[in-house]
Amino acid sequence: MTQQPIENTTRGIAPDRARVMRALHALHVRYRGCNDGRIADYIPELAKADPACFAISIVTVEGEVFEVGDHERTFTIQSLSKPFTHALALADRGREHVMQRVGVEPSGDSFDSIIGLDANNRPHNPMVNAGAIAVTSMIAGDTPGHRLDRMLEMLRRTMGRRPMIDDAVFESERTTGHRNRAMAHLMLNFGILDREVEEILDLYFKQCSVVVTARDMATMAATLANAGINPKTEERAVQREYIRDVLTVMHTCGMYNYAGEWAYTVGLPAKSGVSGGIIAVVPGQFGICVYSPPVDERGNSVRGIRVFEDLSRNSGMHVFETWHQLGQVLNHIDSVEDPSPALPDTTQPVGDATVHKRELELDPPATEAG
Ligand code: GLN
Repeated sequence: MTQQPIENTTRGIAPDRARVMRALHALHVRYRGCNDGRIADYIPELAKADPACFAISIVTVEGEVFEVGDHERTFTIQSLSKPFTHALALADRGREHVMQRVGVEPSGDSFDSIIGLDANNRPHNPMVNAGAIAVTSMIAGDTPGHRLDRMLEMLRRTMGRRPMIDDAVFESERTTGHRNRAMAHLMLNFGILDREVEEILDLYFKQCSVVVTARDMATMAATLANAGINPKTEERAVQREYIRDVLTVMHTCGMYNYAGEWAYTVGLPAKSGVSGGIIAVVPGQFGICVYSPPVDERGNSVRGIRVFEDLSRNSGMHVFETWHQLGQVLNHIDSVEDPSPALPDTTQPVGDATVHKRELELDPPATEAG
């Protein structure tokens, strides 16, 4: 496929490599000792993650990579996949079809809310599980295998290498994913899903079990920043016309019931996943991924949120500030070394961070009298 050069008038002078790396190291040192949050274990296989793992990876629209920490450690993509399957469903079915079945309204509920349908019996948005399952069901293909291939092909284009599925995580999720199963049945009842639930769930669980690194995810975020063209392979990965849709929904819904506060403090289209990744997009400039498995009670990586809050505080990274940086956010990144006072911290993890862990404490079945 021939590629058109991307018109981009906001790119500034190339970032100073040493300066960016200094800033990333400073952030890594500042937060690697943070032990807040807990590893999500409601998918049993995820509980094996190393809580000390911590990576920050940036990929620019020119394909330049900046990274610190465990950027080669693999983890399963989980909900970080959702913007990309949303893009694929939009390309396959068009905006109207998708909008009729899944809204674009923040739910204010947790990612796995079981009551999460709106007044039209649609999931609130494609970033919560119910909406993501619905969107995955819209991936075109003649057979389950064909649909899986097309989903993996979309991920391949955006990450720039062939994706693999972690079978143990897939099996773990399939055998314990009864909340997702319940939501899928509810959506089948309302006609949001239009075929056999188990086949759709298998595709969704496989999607969540794709193995990635922080660099893969930063590349995928950079592809969204780069109008849908993977900056490393220069392949068109996401149709340009749907970038706006995907980034908007990430901005308003990507961090679940923390989305409003995130939009205020960090101000970037973003997506988190329970395995501990957060991606964010600085449109026209770069993609970034922070990976650190301990999550808060909303299922968002604790170190991830802190890094992004520091990065955004006075580097001009907030989308409503970037205009005056003329596309040179990375040249202001060292402001993290001298952060302005933090906003009052209302995000301390409280309660059980295991994210709706399903406690099987059923009473023994009542014995028939007589
Ligand atoms: N696979 C996970 C689930 O369906 C994804 C959730 C997440 O990453 N927030 O529960």
